[in-house]
Amino acid sequence: MTNKLKYFIGNWKMFGDFRSLKIIYQIHRFCTKFKRRDIKNKIILCVPFTLIYFFTKKLKSKLISIGAQNCHHRNIFGPFTGSVNASMLKKAGAKYVILGHSENRLEGETNRLIKKKIASALEQKLNIIFCIGETLKEKSKNKTFSVLRNQIRGSIEKKYNLNKIIIAYEPVWSIGTGKIPKVYELKKTFEFIKNEFKRSFKTKKFPVVLYGGSVNDINISVFSSISDIDGFLIGGASQSSKKFIDIIKNYYK
Ligand code: PEP
Repeated sequence: MTNKLKYFIGNWKMFGDFRSLKIIYQIHRFCTKFKRRDIKNKIILCVPFTLIYFFTKKLKSKLISIGAQNCHHRNIFGPFTGSVNASMLKKAGAKYVILGHSENRLEGETNRLIKKKIASALEQKLNIIFCIGETLKEKSKNKTFSVLRNQIRGSIEKKYNLNKIIIAYEPVWSIGTGKIPKVYELKKTFEFIKNEFKRSFKTKKFPVVLYGGSVNDINISVFSSISDIDGFLIGGASQSSKKFIDIIKNYYK
């Protein structure tokens, strides 16, 4: 069921300015040295809108891709103060966009709106990092699987280019809290998400599914044993090159 390629994706959230280029350079230097025949990694850094163009111009390397953290649902120029659409992201150099993050769901993003955003980003041939996850209340009521099913079915359609959609399972109660699910819970949930995706969209291939929520250089070893996890969406710890690099190194220890 596993995909051999492992993803390490940083979600910088509202962090970084032009000086943060040095973090990218440090991670890049690590990537040029960290070459093992048995390992294939994909490194993506999703940064604030203001840094996408600057980083892609300065970096000029295929070892790290730059992504965004959200987009508007319409690819037009129009009266949407403060918004940036997928076409603008594409032109700025982004290859990926995070959609459905719980921090944005908390601000009122619904499955329906996220679905429109996914469609507009796919229209621009961006790759999607689609976040799903249950709250603590939902978990305590044993609703995790039904929540995940609703999020998947509510925002994705069979006709979409499913190869461009990466799922990030991020339990809301785990984001920024230092808490992570138990190994047996993760195994069950990853198996559920992969099978649910195949079942819902009648595909032959299992989707790429990442884990996100309080991943750090210490707890990363817990995840190494779960072969269904195709990689990680890393928030706070991706804002430090040392922590981000140590996560990758320790994953393979
Ligand atoms: C996130 O916001 O996507 C995330 C995983 O955050 P953190 O790693 O800080 O919990």
